[in-house]
Amino acid sequence: MERRHLLFVGSQIFVGAALALSAGPASASIMPDNNLYLQDCLECESGVSEDTFKAIIEKAKVLYTEVVKQAGGTLTINARWTDATVNASAQQMFGSWSVNMYGGLARRPEVTADGFTMVLCHELGHHLAGFPYVSGWAANEGQSDYFATNHCSQLFWGDETEINAQARAVIAATPKAQCDAAWSTQDAQNLCYRTMLAGKSLGDLLGALKTETVGWDTPATNVVTATNHAHPAAQCRLDTYMAGAVCTADYDKNVIPGKRGTRGYNDREAEEQSALYSCTTQGQYTAGLRSSCWFAPTL
Ligand SMILES: [Zn+2]
Repeated sequence: MERRHLLFVGSQIFVGAALALSAGPASASIMPDNNLYLQDCLECESGVSEDTFKAIIEKAKVLYTEVVKQAGGTLTINARWTDATVNASAQQMFGSWSVNMYGGLARRPEVTADGFTMVLCHELGHHLAGFPYVSGWAANEGQSDYFATNHCSQLFWGDETEINAQARAVIAATPKAQCDAAWSTQDAQNLCYRTMLAGKSLGDLLGALKTETVGWDTPATNVVTATNHAHPAAQCRLDTYMAGAVCTADYDKNVIPGKRGTRGYNDREAEEQSALYSCTTQGQYTAGLRSSCWFAPTL
């Protein structure tokens, strides 16, 4: 059963939905409701510029319009630059698959252009990442995070080898070692470093929201006994971004694991399909697993 509620964020009014597994329309956001919009400054030059904001969104349209069409939907990405909302959201209503991106998030000082790209990837992940689901159509939060750095970043940046190479000079020791263990070519390692840095940008923002700090070397230690479908703690989310960057499992952009017809399922068949496109112990992977701070596999 779906519970709907009005969520007031800045000057926007959303019709949202609670996180029950339902077939109806719902929205899913990158982070909890917050009042950071009060700190927004449209004229201040911080975070991501308007041109970059628009360019990233245009690139996402190029990359994913056909993918969504193949899945039976029509993709709309709303670029709301002047809106102070520090968030982003995804919605599906019948055949319309939409993503809302706000200038308030892009202008946060913690957010780099690549971090912003990962937010957009997270929202696309709600549509495309598949099992485990939080609603009839939406992949849950952890899965959307995993999709962002595992699949979406490869599509976004895979061919930007020169830009990716710039990350090599600044990547910290821990993520560098993980990337080097997972990927053998310099190009693949560089993409991994860049993805790690983008995940850290986003982790820092999520941490700032909760007055938590996140670190490369301080992974979450909690282990869930049932999958957490809500927003995990900031450190847990950074762990997931890092895991996605080093997962070397196959990726097929036209497969949404666990989706049959217009809705997704959290049953065994869905988990088995998901395992084909994720790193799991069952698949003999030792790195890049979805973090046990939110994901509890049942296979
Ligand atoms: Zn989300």
